Amino acid sequence: MKINENFLKIESSYLFSNIAKRVREYTAANPEKAKNIIRLGIGDVTLPLAPACIEAMHKAVDEMSKAETFRGYPPEYGYDFLLNAINDNDYKARGIDFDISEIFVSDGAKSDTGNIGDIFSLDNRVAICDPVYPVYVDTNVMSGRSGDKVDGKWSNIYYMPCLAENDFLPEIPSEKVDIIYLCFPNNPTGMAITKDYLKKWVDYANANKAVILYDSAYEAFVTEDSVPRSIYEIEGAKTCAIEFRSFSKTAGFTGVRCGYTVVPHDLQFDGVELNKFWARRQATKFNGVSYITQRAAEAVYSDEGKKQIKEILAYYQNNAKIIYDGLASCGFKVYGAKNSPYIWLKTPDGMGSWEFFDLLLNELQVVGTPGEGFGPAGEGYFRLTAFGSTENTQKAVERIKNYFSK
Ligand code: PLP
Repeated sequence: MKINENFLKIESSYLFSNIAKRVREYTAANPEKAKNIIRLGIGDVTLPLAPACIEAMHKAVDEMSKAETFRGYPPEYGYDFLLNAINDNDYKARGIDFDISEIFVSDGAKSDTGNIGDIFSLDNRVAICDPVYPVYVDTNVMSGRSGDKVDGKWSNIYYMPCLAENDFLPEIPSEKVDIIYLCFPNNPTGMAITKDYLKKWVDYANANKAVILYDSAYEAFVTEDSVPRSIYEIEGAKTCAIEFRSFSKTAGFTGVRCGYTVVPHDLQFDGVELNKFWARRQATKFNGVSYITQRAAEAVYSDEGKKQIKEILAYYQNNAKIIYDGLASCGFKVYGAKNSPYIWLKTPDGMGSWEFFDLLLNELQVVGTPGEGFGPAGEGYFRLTAFGSTENTQKAVERIKNYFSK
């Protein structure tokens, strides 16, 4: 028996366990002050589900209690009622035409962005933004596609630094790459891509027979018309892109678990439809999302659901603005927030990400996320999130303003 030695290459959840450890140590040494800790580091939502979703779930539970309406295994790719709701609202309403066989309902974008590698040869060069959502990198390490870590970077991964100098947008690769992970609006930088710039990526991928894995988990936060909510708003995307979507941030489903992935029939390599491969992969390794969850997801698209979710999103968007404006007013260089729940800031006076983390924790009892944890190019940056309560967000921003305005 031989183990998958690729797992030995990965540090165990280095970023968030390190944050938790530092907060624990601070709390043990400063129990009184620690009572005032405000966490603006989390990527999890905090507001409860929209009432329309709760109502739909209750109704579905009742159906499960009667023999006539009980449901067993769900279809692997999703119930038609949800596939149609997704297709009509997220695509047809925006002039994008899909058949529901191109949409695959799942338990979330983490699983799908992590599992998608199954359908590609290990012999592909992967391109990722730096900083990046760690799942894209770690799953390629696990499967053996990453090569070895040399000076903090994986030898077979092509890194695309996203820095203030390039507006946090990846530049078109100067070398041949095969699998390109893009996430917009971006985690962690909070920055969005314009339709014009995304078109350049679509053209590159089509010309170079590369595939774009487009994570649009944060599309619900888009506010600007120049910013696409789906890569399929871009002409040519159907022949080069797979899109991942999630109800987690859109509708507070982080604990409920539901998302979906679009694999167009037009996406073909060597005459093979990737749609068939993903369908086969899901049918073999995934057994569908619960009926109750899918009814809740369907309710996201009801008139009531849409109204309620808009209010929830507005709450987080307001928090994002409070952080952005507050920090900008005391001299920080701040990014993101406009189309995203994330605020990305340059640490002051050339401080390291972790040094700044310690300062916020020790002096102000505010917890954020050091940018370096998302990749080497995140060093010198820091992420705050809009998912806290408005009261705590305001308090944290006041503390930061008082301290740094001095
Ligand atoms: N993709 C990105 C970029 C994320 O930041 C997250 C969660 O933080 C996810 C995917 C996970 O989404 P889900 O909850 O649908 O698994």
